[in-house]
Amino acid sequence: MVSGDAGHWVLIRAGTLIDGEGNVAHHVEVLVHGEKIVHVGPAGSAPRVADEVTRIDASQDTLMPGLIDAHLHLTYSGHLGMQQLEWPRSLELAAVSAGANATKALRFGYTGGLDVGCRGKIGVATKAAIAEGTIEGPTLRVSGQIISPVGGPLDLWPSSMRLDPATRLAALVSGVEDARRVIREQAKDGVDNIKFQISGSTVQSKRRGRASFFSDEELRAAVGQAHDLGLSTAAHAEGPEAISAAIRAGVDTVQHASFIDDPTIELLSAHPDARLVFTLGVYDDIIHIGPSIGYPSEGSQRVRDVWERMVAAVRLAYERGVPFAVGSDAGGAVHPHGRYAREIVLLVRVCGIPVERAVRAATSHAARAAWLGGAGVIGADHDADLVVVAGDLVRRVELLEDDANIRVVMKKGRIVRRISGSEIVTTTIA
Ligand SMILES: [Zn+2]
Repeated sequence: MVSGDAGHWVLIRAGTLIDGEGNVAHHVEVLVHGEKIVHVGPAGSAPRVADEVTRIDASQDTLMPGLIDAHLHLTYSGHLGMQQLEWPRSLELAAVSAGANATKALRFGYTGGLDVGCRGKIGVATKAAIAEGTIEGPTLRVSGQIISPVGGPLDLWPSSMRLDPATRLAALVSGVEDARRVIREQAKDGVDNIKFQISGSTVQSKRRGRASFFSDEELRAAVGQAHDLGLSTAAHAEGPEAISAAIRAGVDTVQHASFIDDPTIELLSAHPDARLVFTLGVYDDIIHIGPSIGYPSEGSQRVRDVWERMVAAVRLAYERGVPFAVGSDAGGAVHPHGRYAREIVLLVRVCGIPVERAVRAATSHAARAAWLGGAGVIGADHDADLVVVAGDLVRRVELLEDDANIRVVMKKGRIVRRISGSEIVTTTIA
């Protein structure tokens, strides 16, 4: 019999358990004390507890680690084209949206997230609002404005049109000293992660997302600066040249990595801490939902042209045993917040990866990518970030796409969502 000095106890009986490291088990018990998981084992194996225990009957359900979105944009909300990321929505409206988006992510079972670029300093403010309890949201690592070269893919307006720099999505820099200055400012303001836009995007007309816009020296100096300040780094890199440049510079997450190939996989083996973050969901929605909502047809055609290649890239990483995360890039009109789990569904249905292995990309591997160390695994001493999904997820991964199926969300031992009328009861077992 064990007794808890600090924190309450929660005992969950699960019909199916997906542990976040690629394994499935059935008829499992998980005991939580305070913020941590203290026991995982077969039904009936949990130590008896003297104190009051909250019991959750998930015997018909699937228990899995809280999900982590490794490519989140808190401030994205309803834009159709790139320029709408900065105008006409005001910075203040973007801030209010960011809070709602954070809460929505939690409702869908996402207890962690890496924001990879937001307008102004909204990411830092959103994280602070969650920390002080003003709003509910995931455990976040947040970026500031995306560091992008003058004239690069996020320099969205002609020189004659001057937007207030503070309200923009991008911090436009020219040269390495300028980048260093922005990184120091962002660190001062509380950013956790520095995001670099080093290649264009597949959907843009001029820049097909191949080469890097930064020289190797510039990128290495900027990444080194961020690391010296204790910050993680992320790079938007789609083509092999840009992906290689990011890996060589020591970037922590290579975001999108859409066209990764054999040589870049080889390069990764020499940089084992770098993590790929694939983002198939947004491209899939551009193809399938885009036409019905007025998404520019040239843009969706460009994505259609390379879709098979992007799927092959994910398959290649999987077959080579390269750990990778997924991220939603959600928030545009074509791929709104709430469609986070589309990533996992596509890994299973399009890339042919078994559910329990696909889930790693949004749990343990995403935790590594997002520097959220204790999260992403159901095992003793890990963070008690847990989700109960109604039904058997191994058979129907699509259950994750509807928040009506997300019965319970626990963040660091605290139940932050439960569907009313479920069997959650508070009781004492002696
Ligand atoms: Zn993005």
